[in-house]
Amino acid sequence: MDDLQQVLLAKRSVLRAALNKDVEFLRNAPDTEDESALCAAQMETNELSRIDAALSKMQDGSYGLCEDCGKRIPKARLEALPHATRCLSCQLVSEGEQPLDDGPNWERLAKVEDEE
Ligand SMILES: [Zn+2]
Repeated sequence: MDDLQQVLLAKRSVLRAALNKDVEFLRNAPDTEDESALCAAQMETNELSRIDAALSKMQDGSYGLCEDCGKRIPKARLEALPHATRCLSCQLVSEGEQPLDDGPNWERLAKVEDEE
């Protein structure tokens, strides 16, 4: 799990830097019509809180367990999405979708999670 912690810590510092930049931008241009900076800042804030949650789960030993069914989240999913808090089927159910039969689509899932 230590390698995933490294991944999360690295992601966190990248996100923090990006968030600081966006916040700085918004501060200097409070009347901006550019909603993309606002969206980006929102997304980065959400992702940072998920990463922090994942890191604190690593501290208390509950990292990698699905929040809904309590089963261990497959390592491949955690490697693709280190801050995942649900296994794939619970994630899909929570989004009101049927679990996929044709295998996971990580790229799509990552996008869906970002919109939470
Ligand atoms: Zn589950």
